[in-house]
Amino acid sequence: MQVAIDGPAGSGKSSVCKIIAEKYGFTYIDTGAMYRSVAWVSVHFGEDNLVEKISNIDFILEENGKKISIKYDGKIYDLTKEIRTPEISSKVALVASNGEIRKILVKKQQEFAKSGDVIMEGRDITTVVLPYADIKIFLTASPEERAKRRFKEWQSEENKQEYEKVLSEIKKRDEIDSTRKESPLMQAKDAILLDTTGLTLEQVADKIGEMIAEKKEKSKK
Ligand code: C5P
Repeated sequence: MQVAIDGPAGSGKSSVCKIIAEKYGFTYIDTGAMYRSVAWVSVHFGEDNLVEKISNIDFILEENGKKISIKYDGKIYDLTKEIRTPEISSKVALVASNGEIRKILVKKQQEFAKSGDVIMEGRDITTVVLPYADIKIFLTASPEERAKRRFKEWQSEENKQEYEKVLSEIKKRDEIDSTRKESPLMQAKDAILLDTTGLTLEQVADKIGEMIAEKKEKSKK
């Protein structure tokens, strides 16, 4: 079975996917981590000939979304932590608007999706990568709620300033991702809209779990 999820930054896609993967034995594929790795390569090995560099990279996804490494020029780089820095977050949307890079990554993602039951999330999974997935979901929440989720105690003075920064970063990334020419973030016509504002992670995971159970039941008939 293929479950495809798209949605803006911070909508809870990766946390929900990890829960589902564990509970139902699905393979979780975090495509954002692949685009983040491309941004890391452009920062560390330079932006020149980036398309060629990326076509020679192997992406190694392990521990069900918890670990990502790349094999580049014969060497393995564990990027699990490196791709989560503010520098990479601010750069990634730009490299992700490159059509040639997208073509390479989409092909690799479609290959990954062939491995049994998968849950894949990103920005173009329901529209481009897996348009025929069994379950297609557009996961969203208000930008303010998404920024707040990054903080446990966001009301403290110190965190308030940090919160404003995160909120503006989220809005900026949403804007680039939704207005780019190549595979912009949008809700596919046949994707189910799941607004998670006010819901806990577990409640969202339960809703998706119900969709999976329903699909399984139907396929038996
Ligand atoms: O999901 P995450 O926030 O880690 O994604 C980082 C960035 O990678 C997104 O803001 C977007 O620019 C890009 N991306 C994409 N297509 C995907 C997944 C991520 O363009 N399928």
